[in-house]
Amino acid sequence: MDDPMPPLSSAPATAFTSALEEWFRVHQRDLPWRRTTDPYAILVSEVMLQQTQIQTVLDRGYYTRWMAQFPDFASVAQASEKELLKAWEGLGYYRRARSLQRLCQVILSDHGGVMPQDPAAIRQLPGVGPYTAGAIASFAFNLPEPLVDGNVARVLTRLGDNATPIDEAQGRAWLWHTATTLVRAAAQPRHLNAALMELGQLHCRPGQPDCAACPVSQLCRTRRPGDLPVKKPPAALTDLTEHAALYLQGGKILLQQETGSRRTGLWRLPLLEDAPASAPALLRTRYGITRYRVTLWVHQPPGPAPALGTWVSPDELAHLPMPSPYRRALEAALRAAGDFQLEG
Ligand code: SF4
Repeated sequence: MDDPMPPLSSAPATAFTSALEEWFRVHQRDLPWRRTTDPYAILVSEVMLQQTQIQTVLDRGYYTRWMAQFPDFASVAQASEKELLKAWEGLGYYRRARSLQRLCQVILSDHGGVMPQDPAAIRQLPGVGPYTAGAIASFAFNLPEPLVDGNVARVLTRLGDNATPIDEAQGRAWLWHTATTLVRAAAQPRHLNAALMELGQLHCRPGQPDCAACPVSQLCRTRRPGDLPVKKPPAALTDLTEHAALYLQGGKILLQQETGSRRTGLWRLPLLEDAPASAPALLRTRYGITRYRVTLWVHQPPGPAPALGTWVSPDELAHLPMPSPYRRALEAALRAAGDFQLEG
């Protein structure tokens, strides 16, 4: 019978960890969250990077701006919803900002404003999953706690030539078991975890990796890296159609605030049940969110505007949190409407 937890290779774990840590010491990229062991700064970076690329977070200044506006747990815990969502605008997946605020509030109320160092206590924090717990424990406190993200999963499955689907229980168990073995063998847990991620981002990339530059190529078992990792077939995308209305009056735009959805608190154009029969659409655009592929039509319906909503000036509009696809669509619709200057 197959061993359910086969090792990475016949080499001891320290053969991997010492090679990876040494490579990381020389080749690591200089990233702002690597210059600190402040658990708050590390938490912010991890939450931002959950669904956003490093380059986007850095090049567009999201991380720097956030840290300047919210330098600690208390400033996030006490921020208004509007401030919080506005600062997160452009990063998408706004529930991350809400969940970060909830976590900061619990740090203040239950931990005296200080991140606990006990890994079990970190895992108990709201919204903290195994990956984030491992990142905080290892990067902030240098504890031998594992982490597995997409990059680490790719590196480990290739090193071990393991074709068990990584999104099934057995594959996940193997990844966490292997990551635990490695981090416990490391001289510096924070370097080992960061090195696994860095290797996945720089060399052991999706598709064909750059094995010639890999510090552990001599220990790597796979001969088919492009086929790994294996995942279950993705769920099909669902098509959705949305119709939104552009109402203009006295130099203002009618907006409504979302309630009861993952975008609660964000602003958008009023939605219509259907396309108005009597007026052609101003524009059509497409965007994707989670497993949906959305076609958004923007119309300028005849007749009076609905009573529900808030009339917003172009100046106010710039300060309201709004999902990026809606902001782009609104700006394009205003250009198409042709009688309104966005910059008031
Ligand atoms: S040798 Fe190649 S496939 Fe193996 S871990 Fe290194 S980069 Fe990845």
